[in-house]
Amino acid sequence: MTERIDGHTILIGLMAYPIRHSMSPMMHNNAFAKLGLNYAYLAFDITNDKLSDAVKAIRTLDMRGSNVSMPNKQKIIPYLDKLDPAAKLCGAVNTIVNDDGILTGYTTDGTGFMKSLEDENLDIRGKKMTLSGAGGAGTAIAVQAALDGVAEISIFNAKDKFWDNAERNVDIINKKTNCKATLHTLEDREDFRSEIADSTIYCDSTGVGMKPLEDETLVIDPGWFRKDIIVYDTVYAPRTTKLMKVAQKAGVTHVFNGLGMVLEQGAEAFKLWTGKSMPVEYIRELLFKEDK
Ligand code: NAD
Repeated sequence: MTERIDGHTILIGLMAYPIRHSMSPMMHNNAFAKLGLNYAYLAFDITNDKLSDAVKAIRTLDMRGSNVSMPNKQKIIPYLDKLDPAAKLCGAVNTIVNDDGILTGYTTDGTGFMKSLEDENLDIRGKKMTLSGAGGAGTAIAVQAALDGVAEISIFNAKDKFWDNAERNVDIINKKTNCKATLHTLEDREDFRSEIADSTIYCDSTGVGMKPLEDETLVIDPGWFRKDIIVYDTVYAPRTTKLMKVAQKAGVTHVFNGLGMVLEQGAEAFKLWTGKSMPVEYIRELLFKEDK
């Protein structure tokens, strides 16, 4: 990579904490090298208290932009000049683009989710989705699915600190899109089972299935899944989650972890910064071969 870097190299950042484990630097720098683009992507440990200075640095250093992750996805908003419509509806940003000092915030997690289904030739527009979770990932997925034409979303959440957010998501989707969203509590198991039974896709966007909950799943009984339902877990470490094992046991054909979403949210951001399409199949190979 050093051969690529010279006095004209354009910097793109990733501002989050903790962030050293991220796959994004690997994805973007390999994509820049493959296309011969003179950019470099670096991760920075940025907590909320450093956010103001970090955003100033984007302008001062004339960076092309940055990714933003936890704990900054919501807190970054007041520092930006403009928001793309999906970021506004989500109340969160994961990508910043700097156009001559004007900073625009985007969210590419939801588009990444929808694109990853398209990559598998799956179209959920006009269909019903059951979605567990209403945190950062769940919000982005619900909002983008609704904007893209998914007909119905049944959102399930525990009565925890994210419940208010789940209420907000349902309200915004019903007011601002043509999708019909309903809110349900995860504690009502029979309701959960019957909404899944009625859906084209079940997506789990909770952290259940990843450390420290890697031995857990919200759906335990394979009998809850038809073979033709799509089962999508946003977790990507481990690669095969407990939920995915339940779906496989049920004989479900389309079972996915969150790697496709990681890839496509990155590709979307790459396009926003460079105007070029990420060499997705090349990066997919690098990403999917890493065994985590
Ligand atoms: P978050 O903290 O914002 O939200 C967590 C959600 O999980 C909430 O809805 C919460 O109610 C729910 N939850 C937590 N513990 C639970 C439990 N024991 N039982 C039921 N529900 C529970 O987190 P996030 O940023 O939305 O991330 C959620 C998951 O999505 C993580 O596994 C993360 O790795 C994954 N993720 C994947 C991608 C991707 O590109 N594939 C992107 C973002 C997040």
